[in-house]
Parts: sequence; C-alpha cells; structure tokens
Amino acid sequence: MSAPGGAGPRGGAGPRGGAGAPGGAGPVLLRGGRLVDPAGGHDATADVLVRDGAVAAVGVGLEPGDAEVVDCDGLVVSPGFVDLHVHLREPGREDAETIETGSRAAALGGYTAVCPMPNTDPVADNAGVVEMVAARGREVGLVDVFPVGAVTLGQRGAELAELGTMAHSAARVDCFSDDGRPIREARLLRLALEYAQAFDAVIADHAEDPSLTDGAQMHEGEVSAILGLQGWPAAAEEMVVARDLLLAELTGGRLHLCHLSTAGSVALVRAARARGVLVTAEAAPHHFTLTDELARSFDPVYKVNPPLRSKADVEAIRTALADGTVDAIATDHAPHAREDKEVEWASAPPGMLGLETALALTITELVEPGYLRLGQAVERLTAGPARCRRLPGHGGPLVPGAPANLTVFDPTAAWTVAAPALASRARNTPYHGRQVQGRVVHTLLRGTFTVRGGKASW
Ligand SMILES: [Zn+2]
Repeated sequence: MSAPGGAGPRGGAGPRGGAGAPGGAGPVLLRGGRLVDPAGGHDATADVLVRDGAVAAVGVGLEPGDAEVVDCDGLVVSPGFVDLHVHLREPGREDAETIETGSRAAALGGYTAVCPMPNTDPVADNAGVVEMVAARGREVGLVDVFPVGAVTLGQRGAELAELGTMAHSAARVDCFSDDGRPIREARLLRLALEYAQAFDAVIADHAEDPSLTDGAQMHEGEVSAILGLQGWPAAAEEMVVARDLLLAELTGGRLHLCHLSTAGSVALVRAARARGVLVTAEAAPHHFTLTDELARSFDPVYKVNPPLRSKADVEAIRTALADGTVDAIATDHAPHAREDKEVEWASAPPGMLGLETALALTITELVEPGYLRLGQAVERLTAGPARCRRLPGHGGPLVPGAPANLTVFDPTAAWTVAAPALASRARNTPYHGRQVQGRVVHTLLRGTFTVRGGKASW
C-alpha cells in the first residue's frame, strides 16, 4: 500500500483543515523531554525539532533557530498513540458520538490515529460509507481516521462484503471486521482470510460464540451465580479464538484478535505465535483494570462485551501485554446515549468510553505496579498497534522526515476522572471519580497542536 507520507487518506499529506481543524503550524522545538520511541529504539532525553509537519531533527541540545521552544522537562515525548478499535457512531447514532466529537476525545487522549469499526447505520460494508467516514475524519482534521470495513454484508454473517472494492476505494481499507459480532461461519472467515491476502489486509475478529452467549449479561463465574445473572463463559471467547487461529494457520492470512479478555485466550495466542501463526492481538484498558465484581452494583456502566472478567483474567491480560503476546492496547471506545445506557442492567447495551482515559489507566494499572516498563507501555500504545495494521506515518520511528505525529505526556500527573469533563458526546465512563496518574499535555498531528497544555486547540 502507500508509502509513509504519501498523498491521500493513508499518508495524509494532502490539504487539511476543515471547519474544526486547528490552524497552520510553525516550527516547534520540543526541548528536554524523555523521548520514548520504541520503534526507533530510543529512550533517553532528547529534543525533537518539528518543521513543515515532519520531524526535522532529533538530538541533544538542538538549536531552535526560528522554532518556538516548548519546554518538555519532566515530560515524555512519544509517537502519537494509535487506537485500533473505536466506535464513532457516525453514520447513524450521532446522538451518541460523531466523528468530530470522537476525534476530539481521541486527540485529548493523546491519539493521532483511530480505526473506527463498521457497525454503524448504515454498516460500513461498501466503498461509499468507508469513504464518507475517511473524508469526514480528514475534514475534522484532529486525528487520522482509518476506517475498518465490514467482512460480511450488513455484518449479517451470510455473505462476504466487497472487500476488494473497499480496499481499492479512496479510503484504502486494509482491515475488515464484523466487530460487535463474530464471524460466525468458519467458511466465511476462511474465505475472508484468503481473499484479504490479495490486498495485504488484516481480518479482525470479535471472538464470541453466540450460541453460548445468547442472553448473557456478564462473565460466567462466582459473581454471576450469586447475582443470578446469565453468564458469558470464557470458553465462548476461547473456542472462537482457537478456531480463528487454526484458520489463520490454514490460510496463511493475517488475523487480528479484538479485545482479548481471558487467560485462556492469551494462552492460545501465545502457543499459536510460537508455531508461527500470523496473528496480532489487542486488549482494552477495562480488561486490565476492572473485574466482574463491579456487576454487583448493577450499574450498567460496567456492562461491556466481552464482559469484565475475573481477577485471574485481568492478571493474565497484564502479563500478556508485558510479554508482547498482546501487541496493542485498544480502547474499544463505545459511546452510548444516556437514554440507552442509563437503564436497567439487562436492557443496557454493552460498551464503555475509553479514549480519554487509556494513557492514565496504562500508567496507573500497568506501569506503576511494575507489570510493564514505561517504554513497553508506550510501545503497546504506538508501534504495537501501528504494526498490527501497518499504518504508515504512525507509531514511530521518530526519524527526520517522518510525519510529526507526537504525544507529550506527564507520567506523574495525578488527576480524577470526571465524566462531565470528557470531550466525548457520551458519558458512559466506568472511571468517573477514579484517581489516576498520567496525563496528556500536548498532541501534535503532522506538526500541528491538536492539544496544547492539556487543552484542546480547536
Ligand atoms: Zn467487539
């Protein structure tokens, strides 16, 4: 596909700046920060000079020349974060989120690239919808929006969507998923894995066997038994993970596994990797932070798919992120309108917000307790996800000529999550009132501040 920095939606070097987009960017010298650029093998104090939307130089004691000096002492400078899994709800549910409000939430969370899932209304199963999503993302101009196309028509699981047409459309889709649902039929997943190889695309599956989860309300275990709620067993995820891995092995296609949530799933991925299967995987912050105990509150803000699991599963996800079995932290940002989500548990749709809290949870839950070093955590937010989709211009390395997609954050800043303060149109964060550590200070998309001093630049 396109080379880094190439024109068009994937390289993003074309004209930008729609109604909401920040203004033009002068040269900037990010001075004295700790540069953590895992793709470039860098973790040391260094200045980064940004000019004309690109990294111009990286080194110690750089001369600013005409560049504006931005003091980054005590801060971490990294490639912009990449989120492989978001729901921006446009088209169809603009009352819950739009590409504009979701882009704002992403920029404030330190993201420079997001991949919206196709379960919109209409479904993004054709060139028209994916092109609309990509174009709207460019118009907003706060984050690069790389749409995911549906694998099957209408995500109904009956016949393949026109993957080739979406791949060759102006949106140049290189990832397909029926997320929200699994690809039920093994035959269709096999076809998709085979066909997608023609345009080097990846198939991202939401692993769930619906015959085991129909009517399920939460993770199946001790807590579901006590509460009398129908359970969603870990096996319903793991058997589909196992099937998917076998089909990836059979076809040689590229498989990505969405939001892994159980110890058994990561064990299966680890074993498949060891025998050379082409698989990548992601995990969501709530699956390394929260457990099924929270369902005792019957607060539907904790209802999510896959569900919050046991303490042992949370531990396994943390370990898998540490050893690289899970490549990426992906938020599965799932905004819902208040009237839909703030209802009784059984009627509430699954899903929770994630974009504006991912960095803080990563630092608070993974780095501070010692599961991951800071450099590893940054890798799982940048180079890891960029590698899963081979996204050009994102995830580093931050070398001269690379697009200046950058995040600057304070790893020590403590703050309290407040739902009303979020930029997302929705309010369904399970972290309201939670004390966390780690805050985004600046986000730059191709050298332009989308976030500056922790505040939006639009
Ligand atoms: Zn999903």
